[in-house]
Amino acid sequence: MTYLDNAATTMMDSEIIDFMHEIMQNQYGNPSSIHALGRNSRVIVENARIIIAKLLNISPAEIFFTSGGTEGINTIVKSVLSMPKIKRVITSPAEHPAMLNAIEYYAAINNVELIMLPLDKKASIIMSDLSNELQKTDGDTFVSLMHANNEFGTMLPIQKIGELCKTHNALFVTDTVQTMGKLRNNFSEWHPDFAIGSAHKFHGPKGVGFMYISGDNKVDPLFIGSQERNMRAGTENIYAIAAMAKAMENAYKIMDENLEKMQELKNYLVNIVSNEFSHIGFNGDIEGGLPNIINLAVEKTPNNEMLLMKFDIAGIMLSGGSACSSGALIDSHVMEAVGRAAKYRAIRVSMSKYTTKNDLDSFIDLLKTI
Ligand code: PLP
Repeated sequence: MTYLDNAATTMMDSEIIDFMHEIMQNQYGNPSSIHALGRNSRVIVENARIIIAKLLNISPAEIFFTSGGTEGINTIVKSVLSMPKIKRVITSPAEHPAMLNAIEYYAAINNVELIMLPLDKKASIIMSDLSNELQKTDGDTFVSLMHANNEFGTMLPIQKIGELCKTHNALFVTDTVQTMGKLRNNFSEWHPDFAIGSAHKFHGPKGVGFMYISGDNKVDPLFIGSQERNMRAGTENIYAIAAMAKAMENAYKIMDENLEKMQELKNYLVNIVSNEFSHIGFNGDIEGGLPNIINLAVEKTPNNEMLLMKFDIAGIMLSGGSACSSGALIDSHVMEAVGRAAKYRAIRVSMSKYTTKNDLDSFIDLLKTI
């Protein structure tokens, strides 16, 4: 099997599985219990918070554990869009469906004006458009722009966006799910009000993540109760939370060498495709984008309609876009947004530390036959 769908999810490290298993087996106390077993669990959860906060150069009090990226997004969007002062939300059609759907839903029920920024063909916003929109605002605007796009790998200038939002007194959330554990995200420099992480994108377990809520901000919880300082009710998923922190710590330990490896593999694939496949191009920002994502643009013909399925049958796991549309014969919303869906099919190759040159060769060999 060749797994090239790491932007959808990653394989868990066996070290993390063992670590989780050990906590499941031995540390079954409820972190809210006052006895020794409960206190042990509390220490595990709080240590995880300290580890993640340190890696992100923020305060542990600014981290709230959730069930993953989607929950963090929903908590923040629902709360911010119901604030009486918020009259406008600015976003882009390239955001992840979790963000787009939440924004569309809560903007509609709260009568908040929704402004979609136009995209260039790499799925990047144009900074002057954002700046022009923000000129019209006065502390009444929420901005949502992702750090790196999950389909194209295109990266936005988050620090500049953060500074612009601060200048115009706009609240700013950045979806950092695709860059968490891959790049040295520094929230103290970027000034987002909110950001999101999800463990399964960096070799941790599924169903656990966190939201960053900067110390200047307060949002309403999605679930009402007492855990996570009243911000996320429900007994903490302690083994998943601890495993997420460990997976993130591991990711940081190998980050520089892994980035180099990803870039080498990316260059290898891009060179072969450019030299040997005259009818295949690229979607997104192939030079400046995330090094672990390469999105190929294959001209649509009736013959290649079942392209992804053919790869699947041959044991090569890929997707055309975001995970929810992988395998399905629907066009990606990002391809639609950049006006490329009518002409091209997207094949997203997304890699991790486990990806090898052999994996890419298997993909290339099959691509030649299709
Ligand atoms: N945001 C982005 C950019 C993603 O890639 C994903 C996962 O596909 C999510 C949000 C949702 O995260 P989760 O799967 O943890 O709910």
